[in-house]
Amino acid sequence: MKLVGVELRRIAMPLVAPFRTSFATMTTREILLVRVETEDHEGYGECVTMADPLYSSEYTAGAADVLRSYLVPALAAPPDLDPWAVAPALAAFKGHRMAKAALETAVLDAWLRSHDLSMGQWLGATADRVPAGVSVGIMDSIPALLDAVDGYLSEGYLRIKLKIEPGWDVAPVRAVRERFGDDVLLQVDANTAYTLADAAQLARLDPYGLLLIEQPLDEEDIRGHAELARQVRTPICLDESIVSARSAADAIAMGACSVVNIKPGRVGGYLEARRIHDVCAANGVPVWCGGMLETGLGRAANVALAALPGFTLPGDTSASDRYYRTDITEPFVLRDGHLDVPRGPGLGISPVPGQLAEVTASTEWIGR
Ligand SMILES: [Mg+2]
Repeated sequence: MKLVGVELRRIAMPLVAPFRTSFATMTTREILLVRVETEDHEGYGECVTMADPLYSSEYTAGAADVLRSYLVPALAAPPDLDPWAVAPALAAFKGHRMAKAALETAVLDAWLRSHDLSMGQWLGATADRVPAGVSVGIMDSIPALLDAVDGYLSEGYLRIKLKIEPGWDVAPVRAVRERFGDDVLLQVDANTAYTLADAAQLARLDPYGLLLIEQPLDEEDIRGHAELARQVRTPICLDESIVSARSAADAIAMGACSVVNIKPGRVGGYLEARRIHDVCAANGVPVWCGGMLETGLGRAANVALAALPGFTLPGDTSASDRYYRTDITEPFVLRDGHLDVPRGPGLGISPVPGQLAEVTASTEWIGR
């Protein structure tokens, strides 16, 4: 493929309800979309950065800048562009995995369309639908939380994940178990809010039969997670700490996790995400697909990834209306607690022009 240029589009999507984690409360999701134009096709990649560097060091304005100043110009160099050429072309620039992932995904989408292949086919998906879990934010009260969980279970979600932080951990988990029973697949996510000194408090979650505790400690504290894993019975899952197949292999070897949350944006794209899937499968470590409040574009690619055989736990691949009243694509809808894997070429889904225009804040064209 020959690159013609890249469009960066900033959009602002109002959330159906505020989403609170241990690091921030969000009411609007600001997203950077990357559209690659080749001579024959176009492709989209959704950059999963948050507006502020609170989940990780990356943030949306920074991603736009590194794309504009370094990554897109570097992509102009390969004479024949394909998905495998992207990471090597960008390798000189350290970090910025979310920005790189968005650009690589856009190239991949265009390339798959040119080969009439769907993302799922190309990744090696073995399922045509994936079970959907939902991530439930920190609430103002236990009754409000129980109402929210009740609503999601009635909609058919097959797994509940509660965001936790110090002061909001054992009580919400106990309340959800008491109200909805032991059969609900339940897990928690701390987004790095604890330290190893909190091990005794986290061990108080053990009696509730959680699938996992996600990223309790700082992202760089691999040894701390390994030590914590010896002090709690609930399996430890890593999210923020896993930025590559190599870091996944290291964390598993150190005993720091027995489950991995794969987010393609966090690890630099779907090629690396698939390598992590393979490393985990070789080690007998189950994986699941995390979410970054994606629009239908990012969701489509995640659902395809989650259809790989090693994804044995339900992911945060929720229906579009979990976050957005109106998506920028045809919405993903829940059927029997599952989402269908798109079958069309590329991501298998495209923005609806009017809906995209409605939420667009700015666009910028970078010609080759
Ligand atoms: Mg997480």
